[in-house]
Amino acid sequence: MSDERPTPSSYQRPAGGPGQRPTGGPGGPRKRRPFQRRKVCRFCAEKNLTIDYKEPRTLRFFVTERGKIVPRRISGNCAAHQREITEAIKRARNIALLPIAANHAIG
Ligand SMILES: [Zn+2]
Repeated sequence: MSDERPTPSSYQRPAGGPGQRPTGGPGGPRKRRPFQRRKVCRFCAEKNLTIDYKEPRTLRFFVTERGKIVPRRISGNCAAHQREITEAIKRARNIALLPIAANHAIG
């Protein structure tokens, strides 16, 4: 009995087979993001850098375009400084130095 099977190289995979796509659908395989250099808190690194609600230029680094505060895992701040940042940002918002929402953005 000759049982000829297609070799893996000549065998053509059916395109769009069921369950073949690695992407799509909730609970799919998570993309491993490339290892990022461990960020160090820039306020710990630079002692002369101060967190001041009157300095929106500094605070801008920790606010997204839409006016949200950047989370610590993104900004790399330490807990103590992140707290100071959030406080400063909230104060700056109150006196309209920083946007509260995207529509409030100043040039
Ligand atoms: Zn710090």
